[in-house]
Amino acid sequence: MHQIAKRLPPTCEPATVTQEDVEDAVRTILTWIGEDPAREGLSDTPARVARAYRSYFSGYAQEPEEFLKKTFKETAGYDEMVLLRKIPFQSHCEHHMAPITGHAWVGYVPRERVVGISKLARVVEAYANRLQIQERLTAEIAGAIDRALEPLGVAVLIKASHQCISGRGVRKHGVDLTTTQMLGCFRTETGRRQEFLAMVSTEGPD
Ligand SMILES: [Zn+2]
Repeated sequence: MHQIAKRLPPTCEPATVTQEDVEDAVRTILTWIGEDPAREGLSDTPARVARAYRSYFSGYAQEPEEFLKKTFKETAGYDEMVLLRKIPFQSHCEHHMAPITGHAWVGYVPRERVVGISKLARVVEAYANRLQIQERLTAEIAGAIDRALEPLGVAVLIKASHQCISGRGVRKHGVDLTTTQMLGCFRTETGRRQEFLAMVSTEGPD
């Protein structure tokens, strides 16, 4: 009787999981869904999926608050809201690893310092490129800006559709989820909150 050498499962330490382990796992899934991982059309698929996952989840290697370290003080006394509108993002839900696609509106009222606007988009991207639920994504973006810039207030609104709702289970198309996180003056002052929501609803969210 032959003893089949069984590969030990990789440990959960990211450093010890190789791309080969991931490709093996993808081949397992392909077999399980009824495919033949050896057929020509699928021969490069495990490697492509591994690379795609590296990209989808590149946010784990990033520290979003680092993006906000470089700030500008010379604002000539600008003390009104800064709003970056409709930042597109893609994320993945942590329950099904299914795509979440949507847009984020990120506003803040500076206390003294402002940040390059592209950095706000990078914060959204870094948190989106992890497994998420939309509520946490919204809170994490607002929290990072609040800690790094210490502004008078931060407001984040996210509108997104979840493929795990549209593509499986209840299969509801055209449904989206809106979440908001308001900190500082946006939380305490009704006028600020209304100003933010009015600026968001100018041409959107659509
Ligand atoms: Zn899901």
